[in-house]
Amino acid sequence: MAKKLPTLDLFAHALRAKPTTSRKPSTKTEANAEQSAPDLQATMLWDKCLSIIKDNVASQVYKTWFEPITALRWQDSQLTIQVPSQFFYEWIEEHYYALLQKTIYQILGAKSKLQYQVLVNNNGETLEQRAIKLPAFRNAPTTSQSNQQSTLPFATATPIQQQYPNYLNSRYTFENFIRGESNQLASSAALAVAEAPGKTRFNPLFIYGGTGLGKTHLVQAIGNYITQNNPSSRVLYTNSERFTIEYVNAIQNNRVNEFTNFYRTIDVLIVDDIQFFSGKEKTQDNFFHTFNALYQAGKQLILTSDKPPKELVDVDDRLISRFQWGLTVDVQLPDYETRMAILQRKSMDEGFEIPTDIIEYIARHVFSSVRELEGSLISLIAKVSLDRRELTIDLAKEVVRGVSTPSNKNITIQDIIKEVSKHYDFSPDILAGKTRKHEVVLARQVAMYLAKKFTSLSLKNIGSYFGGRDHTTVLHSCQMIENYLGNDKSVVASIETLKRLFGRD
Ligand code: ADP
Ligand code: MG
Repeated sequence: MAKKLPTLDLFAHALRAKPTTSRKPSTKTEANAEQSAPDLQATMLWDKCLSIIKDNVASQVYKTWFEPITALRWQDSQLTIQVPSQFFYEWIEEHYYALLQKTIYQILGAKSKLQYQVLVNNNGETLEQRAIKLPAFRNAPTTSQSNQQSTLPFATATPIQQQYPNYLNSRYTFENFIRGESNQLASSAALAVAEAPGKTRFNPLFIYGGTGLGKTHLVQAIGNYITQNNPSSRVLYTNSERFTIEYVNAIQNNRVNEFTNFYRTIDVLIVDDIQFFSGKEKTQDNFFHTFNALYQAGKQLILTSDKPPKELVDVDDRLISRFQWGLTVDVQLPDYETRMAILQRKSMDEGFEIPTDIIEYIARHVFSSVRELEGSLISLIAKVSLDRRELTIDLAKEVVRGVSTPSNKNITIQDIIKEVSKHYDFSPDILAGKTRKHEVVLARQVAMYLAKKFTSLSLKNIGSYFGGRDHTTVLHSCQMIENYLGNDKSVVASIETLKRLFGRD
């Protein structure tokens, strides 16, 4: 899509504000800083946007381009966010315009605007800022997102023709998926299913493999291919966590029938990461019936998991046997040639020419997943364009070291819950429970804070690990801990100990 920058009202406002160093204000002084003090509502709205963005970009992209943004104000349907530099702003607009547009539309509504403020100088005593005003939308976005109030896709879908968010991300296509020995079978099967959904023997199509190896990319590509070639086909991408949360909400709101009926209207149902159905018996039961109804109606089911069906833990045998009715296929670690091809293609897509010896160096040293490969490339590009570093083998070495040192190993929310409960001497289920005792509340807040900081889970997802608490509770917890970090030595000590445990000190 052509994403020319809109006409900017540059230097519309020259604002002066006190310097802020942290992303969110943690002390009163910062909170009082003129203009740069984020208001709570802006932060909450932006956090909602971030939880969508997080699900739609690679985690390294998220960390590099979205984490440094601060939400400043929400006023007159206009959300003001602060970005660190002009380059940063341009990069975001050029690469993530469509995603931002869709997200803002969904969270803030069609009439809202996004305003950027660019930090132009943060070396001196005072911080110059200038505001760039631009309409977030030149035209109303053409996505299928409809009701901005609702996060439940089925809430707006009573008449069959009605639109619903399909959660497809147009950045995942077959064209930009690099094929290699490691994903040959999976990608061929995916294409076959995309060309004739429900009509091949690959039903369900079950793709499994380690994290960052392209499962989500492939199944999203199927969805995008089908919606492009057959726009009337009802495709829905979801994951087992979202399905579970929606089901639980439906129970709480007496809307189980509506929920069930909505899923039965889908022609191509994609459920990502079904390993998280583990132990959720009632949800599994509902999914079992949905699966049967769709299967019998000749609809296509596409599933992914981190392990083959037989190895799924705490998943009903009836479901496991159904998962094996179609084709089960894995994606493996990419070999050297595929890694080279991926890096070459991605650097080309980013419009960045990288000398072959540097590409070779990265391909040789980063092999644990495509996500890490992508991560190294993005850090490299960020270092060159943001920090103005020279593109050399030494820089590549630095980047590769950053990606593969143990301190950058993925931390899971399970690790966090385990370590935090150990640290505070509670059993992990107490953290998920209802108790409001001060020490438990604190431990829970610490766990949520660390989960927000060190995992790529959205606020909503984090809440689901703590007895289904909602995203505002998680946000509040993170803010509480940030406040404590400014004035409570024991919390500071605990956080430091825990960070050290995770190799993030
Ligand atoms: P998974 O779902 O298996 O954890 P993803 O599909 O999220 O992995 O892939 C991680 C990142 O790597 C995504 O940005 C994806 O676009 C990219 N990726 C994975 N495999 C390939 C591939 N073969 N070609 C191009 N990009 C890939
Ligand atoms: Mg995935």
